[in-house]
This record gives sequence, C-alpha cells and structure tokens, in this order.
Amino acid sequence: MKLTVKAYAKLNLLLDIVGVLPNGYHSLNMIMQSVDLHDTVSVEETDGQGIVITSSDSNVPTDSRNTVWKAVLAFEEYTGKKCTVRINIDKRIPSPAGLAGGSADAAATLYALNIIYNTDLSDSELCRIGSKVGADVPFCIVGGTQLSQNIGDVLSPLPSIGDCHIVIGVPDTPVYTKDAYRRFDTSRDEISHPDFTTLLSDAANGNYDSVYKNTANVFEQVIDVPDRVPIKAVMRKNECELTLMSGSGPSVFGIFKKATDALHCANELLQITKNVCVCRPVDKGIEIVKE
Ligand code: ATP
Repeated sequence: MKLTVKAYAKLNLLLDIVGVLPNGYHSLNMIMQSVDLHDTVSVEETDGQGIVITSSDSNVPTDSRNTVWKAVLAFEEYTGKKCTVRINIDKRIPSPAGLAGGSADAAATLYALNIIYNTDLSDSELCRIGSKVGADVPFCIVGGTQLSQNIGDVLSPLPSIGDCHIVIGVPDTPVYTKDAYRRFDTSRDEISHPDFTTLLSDAANGNYDSVYKNTANVFEQVIDVPDRVPIKAVMRKNECELTLMSGSGPSVFGIFKKATDALHCANELLQITKNVCVCRPVDKGIEIVKE
C-alpha cells in the first residue's frame, strides 16, 4: 500500500520560553498556526528490508538523522510492528527555517504508517509517539490553531484566526534550534516576556487583533538575523496586521487582511531574499492526497 500525505508548515503567533524542566528541556507557551505551505510525503510498504528515504532536497539527510526515519523507529517501538517502507519527501518547506519542516514530515509519516499498518492509533497516541521525535511533531499531527505548552506535547485548540493572507520571507542566515536555546540560556535574565494571561484570554475569545498587538517571539531578543529588520519594515509598509519571526528563525512572516497587500509585499521582499512565499492558514496539520 502507498499513501501520499501533505505535511503543512507551522508559524508561531506567540513563542515564549517560561522555564527549564529537570531534564533540561525548555518549557514553552506557544500559539501555533498551520499554513498551506507543505511538503508532500509518500509512504509505500515494500517487500524489502527496513527504511529507504529519498528527498527532492539534497540538503536533507536520507539516513537515520532524518526525522522521518526517527518517526518510523518510534512507531515500531510503540506498536511492535516491523516496518519495511520507502518514503519520498518532496520538500517545499525551507529548512532549517523555524517552520517545522522536519517535524511536519515526521507527523505525516506517523499518520501514514497508522493507516498502512492498520494500527488504529488515536491522534493522542500518535502525538505521544511524535513527542519522542521532536517538540513540534504533536502540533503537526493535530494542526490548525493551537495553544502548545510544556515541551510542545500539551495542546489546546484555539479559535481560528480567520481568513487572511500570509507572507513568509526566509533570510539566508541559517539558525539551528539547539544554538538558539543555548543563546537564550545565556541571556535568560535579560529577556522580557509577553503577558501570557492577556494573550491567552484574547486568543480564546478569538480577539486576534489584540493578540497581534501584544504578542512576541522571545527568540527575537537573542537571535541575530540581519535581514529581519528590513523584512519587517517592508511588511509593515504593506499594512500587515502582525509581523514576527517564526520558531527559532530565521523565517519572518506577515499576516495581511488583503491579498493585494500580501502580493505587493512578497514582490518587494524579493529584493531582500529570493526565498519568499505567500500562503493561507489551514485548519489541519496533515492531509491525505487523493491519487
Ligand atoms: P522547527 O521549527 O521545528 O525548529 P526548523 O524549520 O527550524 O524546525 P527543520 O526544517 O525541522 O528546522 O530542519 C532542522 C534540521 O533537521 C535540518 O538542518 C536538517 O538537516 C534536519 N532534518 C532532518 N530531517 C529533516 C526533514 N525531514 N526535513 C528537513 N530537515 C530535516
């Protein structure tokens, strides 16, 4: 059996680091949003031995370092099944970019394996397996608009942000998530944090205008991305509702009410970076592609 699945990217409408757990992981408060920028992951059961990964992007590892590989191992451990699969990743989500590309592929793989191997696992079981692969995997399984807390494993649905147009600009400066947390740790005492109680109450009431005015991504205070300021300036000039870095960066996104503003902004951004996309919010993390 072969299953092809869209794996949607995510944006952080809020990212705050609120503590460090005894195991060294960081505890987070995040508002996450799925967008229709996606990788396409095809999972096919084979007669051969083990796992074979191919990818349209030669920068993505195709061995045990790939999140998809880790997802297969975590699935095998949980279910006791032995998987012999060929997995192709058609990469569209820039990486590393703070858009959860690797996590989305892992989420799509778990979703597909559950169907191919008839294991009938619930979403919460898939999320439990996914949290062993990466912090954003549970969100990528559920998707939509979610409050994500602890190490990304505690999810609560939020009202939709409504119809809008989103522009993402990805500067050339690569940022690695581990380095970003290290930098946060060394500056922890100087970080200013957003007012989570107000943000959560506004988001829970669907008052995203207020969320957009008061939100923050604390990584912006410790991660130096030279193009962030000019990208944000172009987004503001084109009447965005919000512009923020996503995850540990370097991607910067803008939310627009009008398609014309978004398209104009995207065109202008091409003078700063060639890596620009226009997308829309979606209410899911994964979608089966009918073949
Ligand atoms: P996040 O927002 O979850 O921190 P990210 O967008 O910053 O994610 P990824 O796209 O997940 O970063 O890639 C991080 C690194 O993981 C890459 O440098 C890449 O080498 C490695 N990697 C492993 N598997 C994948 C995959 N399936 N897709 C992309 N990168 C992968």
